[in-house]
Amino acid sequence: MSSEIANAVFLAALFLGVIYGSRILETRWPIADVPYSEFRDDWFAVIVSVGLASLLAPIAAIIAGKIASYTGVGWIVLPTEGYWWYASLAFVVVAMDLYKYTFHRLQHAIPFLWSMHSFHHSANSVTFITGARHYWLERVLADAFLPILAILLRVPPDMAIAAAFIFFIPDACAHLNVRIPLGRFVTWINNPQWHRIHHSVRIEHRDKNFAAFFPLWDILFGTAYVPKPDEYPATGLVPAEQVDVVNSVIWPIRHLRHRASKNEAATTGR
Ligand SMILES: [Zn+2]
Ligand SMILES: [Zn+2]
Repeated sequence: MSSEIANAVFLAALFLGVIYGSRILETRWPIADVPYSEFRDDWFAVIVSVGLASLLAPIAAIIAGKIASYTGVGWIVLPTEGYWWYASLAFVVVAMDLYKYTFHRLQHAIPFLWSMHSFHHSANSVTFITGARHYWLERVLADAFLPILAILLRVPPDMAIAAAFIFFIPDACAHLNVRIPLGRFVTWINNPQWHRIHHSVRIEHRDKNFAAFFPLWDILFGTAYVPKPDEYPATGLVPAEQVDVVNSVIWPIRHLRHRASKNEAATTGR
């Protein structure tokens, strides 16, 4: 039990350290100024989303378990002896990345998925915290219905942890509000400038740079927009949206609420 507490304290300290470190970088080399209100709204959106998704996590786990017991898991057993472990890890990372790229493109192409993914894009300023800003139901549905990689591949626990660590850098750090001049290496690994294009308000950047880890997928499948050295566009939805408590819970159907309040305004003459 005490080792569990020690682990929890270690993880909490690591988490706070990462948040604090990102704040130092974002204050020192910012891409754009972030008004305090935007920063606060981002935190708020993340807390609501993570809170609701955690409450519903047991239901997602039950559904995922039912699907897995029906299909079976680990159809493909990856070799792990000696150097094969590293080759298998590389394969897992590439497979995960292609899967993430494909799912992300679907999130922009299918209206039902976009109605939830647009919550992530509603951040008017992109910062480290924006990386965790996802609609709560999207988290639950993804956990419940998309254990595709677990079904396909048998990945030992140490390899799964290593893959998660490897992904943390480009995936989480892509939202850092930090200017990192990568020059021609900007197309090598996902980074704040590459992903900022994905969040851009500009029409020429729309539906570009979906990659989570390797921008190579964008280049191969024709969705790459290579930013010029100083190209750091404004970000958010067009027109811009503001997130409040109610919106962050009912995000996909918020327009009904707007329409209702407009009708009310019309009938009451406001
Ligand atoms: Zn997106
Ligand atoms: Zn993003």
